[in-house]
Amino acid sequence: MAGNWKMYKTAQETADFFRQFNSLIDGNVKCDIVLFPTFVNLQTAVDSVADTRIEVGAQNVHWAREGAYTGEVSSVMLTSIGCRWVLVGHSERRQYFHETDADVLKKTQAALESGLSPIVCVGEKLEERKCGDTEQVLIEQFAGGIAGLTEEQFSNIAVAYEPVWAIGTGQTATPEIAAAAHRLIREEAGKRFGEDAADQLRILYGGSVKPDNVNGLMKESELDGALVGGASLDPQCFSSIVKGA
Ligand code: PEP
Repeated sequence: MAGNWKMYKTAQETADFFRQFNSLIDGNVKCDIVLFPTFVNLQTAVDSVADTRIEVGAQNVHWAREGAYTGEVSSVMLTSIGCRWVLVGHSERRQYFHETDADVLKKTQAALESGLSPIVCVGEKLEERKCGDTEQVLIEQFAGGIAGLTEEQFSNIAVAYEPVWAIGTGQTATPEIAAAAHRLIREEAGKRFGEDAADQLRILYGGSVKPDNVNGLMKESELDGALVGGASLDPQCFSSIVKGA
């Protein structure tokens, strides 16, 4: 269960979140939990989850280890402060910062080289769904952003299916729509990396997941977890999503 905080929360608000959230997650919660704060609050988050089973990831990464890339952050820098995960190819990165599938592949490879676990995000826009292009879009995103990994690299990523029309809109995909997309992604994974690797792949659903819909979504065996945006900002709300899952 992953929480993407986008460009929200100051350092103080980050520390406050974990003070509350850590005490709400008890030993009965079995799933992996990872929060994705902004770069400047990663260290605060990492320090706040010390001695807990909660992990921290970044929302983006550059593909170079270091260099003249003003404003960017490398995977080596992220692991050096205790980050374990990274989001790659979120639709907001694709839309506002023009990230391509080729960028997604390079970032994913760089993250893996440094020992980060990438969550690679894919998903169709509303107009693409309306035109009946969903399958084609997912196949192309898989081919351009994921298929170029080695088998070993592939075994260390997770994928998030995030239909763009469901992100921040309250229009959650039905469990059936999400499951169909996950099945398609798993099929693509099977063709390229083999059935076993495809079975092992964790595919998260993202798009307006809330405490009152997480249970219905997670009942679908195709859904291995959720990437939660807005509803992960509040400790009570995100802890009830985690427990609901
Ligand atoms: C997201 O940012 O990845 C996301 C799914 O957002 P929300 O849950 O707010 O739709």
